[in-house]
Amino acid sequence: MDIRFEPTDALILVDIQVDFCPGGKLPIERGDEVVSILNPIIEQAEKQGIYIFYSRDFHPRLHPSFKENGGIWPTHCVQDTEGARFHPELKIAKNSVIVTKGTRFDKDQYSAFDDTGLAVAFKKLDIKRVFIGGLALDVCVKETALDSIKNGFHTFLIKQGTRPVTEKSGEQALLEMKNKGVVII
Ligand SMILES: [Zn+2]
Repeated sequence: MDIRFEPTDALILVDIQVDFCPGGKLPIERGDEVVSILNPIIEQAEKQGIYIFYSRDFHPRLHPSFKENGGIWPTHCVQDTEGARFHPELKIAKNSVIVTKGTRFDKDQYSAFDDTGLAVAFKKLDIKRVFIGGLALDVCVKETALDSIKNGFHTFLIKQGTRPVTEKSGEQALLEMKNKGVVII
């Protein structure tokens, strides 16, 4: 895929972490496939000098999203464990920025914009367009894309560079994103 980036673009790679890939604690089917699809796009973005952000789920052991704490998800992406690391083959661009989320004790944060201050940073940087890929399509990618729209950014989903938890909710997520103004590419 050839994306023509502009200087006011940002690329967000959502939660491409060991626990969300096959063999992890909350594996998304074929989740690891996004790495080889997104790496060339990351390289291109790096070459063009646009802003690159990697979000990561980084939960304390007491996190409310875990079943053991009354939540709906198996324990995953616990702070400083192997599972919380980025996929080992994911290209980490020079001068990129990590957005850490899921650290609160009172709520989960699916979106990279949710209480992270990221939208404020984007406005300071004069970012106009946001390109998004990563995991999972129907959870954190969707919420990140919808928040991006809400914050007034022209938002693009890199469809090949994402995978859903389930096919059905993946289809629903695509439809919802499209209806709210996300451009699917
Ligand atoms: Zn999580």
